[in-house]
Amino acid sequence: MRIWPVDSMRKGKVTTKFPKKPNETISPWSTLPEKIGDGDVECPTSAIENGQVSMEKCISCGACMTSFKPSLKTDNYRVINNTKGLKRSLKVFIIDSGTCGACNTELHAIANPYYDSSRLGIFLTNTPKQADAIAIMGVYTPKMEGPLLAAINAMARPGIVILFGACALSGGIIGKGLEDIVTPDLIIGGCPPDPFVILEALQKARGGKI
Ligand code: SF4
Ligand code: SF4
Repeated sequence: MRIWPVDSMRKGKVTTKFPKKPNETISPWSTLPEKIGDGDVECPTSAIENGQVSMEKCISCGACMTSFKPSLKTDNYRVINNTKGLKRSLKVFIIDSGTCGACNTELHAIANPYYDSSRLGIFLTNTPKQADAIAIMGVYTPKMEGPLLAAINAMARPGIVILFGACALSGGIIGKGLEDIVTPDLIIGGCPPDPFVILEALQKARGGKI
């Protein structure tokens, strides 16, 4: 019979040291592909232009693997407006405009014992009124337009508006993105984004150290 407290003590602390140490278990195809050959590639979202992959459009399908390979870098995000004053505590509210569920799962994963975002002062919250950041994911859906704009208005300032994942950024393969109705301070690519990328992007957006 296994005794779980003994098992836990044997394993020790499993929480990643990222961002002080490398991203040891990043999911390869969640990172932006980089060119390794000149073969023909049929990208389902037309994400490849002049040998470069667009973070807004790439859905991490791996269909380009004959000429591209995962970069394994965590730079699949862009800070548009640096927001200061949130270094000690950052509370993130999530809005699902129309996802497949995977973006939700990966963003919630940052709070699990392995990634443990609380050690960096990053928490999830259930109300936009207590949020310092709003992460909007999924494709545009008319019925969610009002609620997501209301949530952005309810957030205290300074605050960070995040467009999260390929669907929110470009519509991916299933719809239209949200760039026409939301002005983001931070965009995070991926389908879905990897928790290591999410942690690094949130740290950078609030002016924290990586
Ligand atoms: S992983 Fe898929 S979506 Fe991304 S560039 Fe390659 S083929 Fe296009
Ligand atoms: S970006 Fe990818 S993982 Fe996220 S909701 Fe769209 S299809 Fe799902």
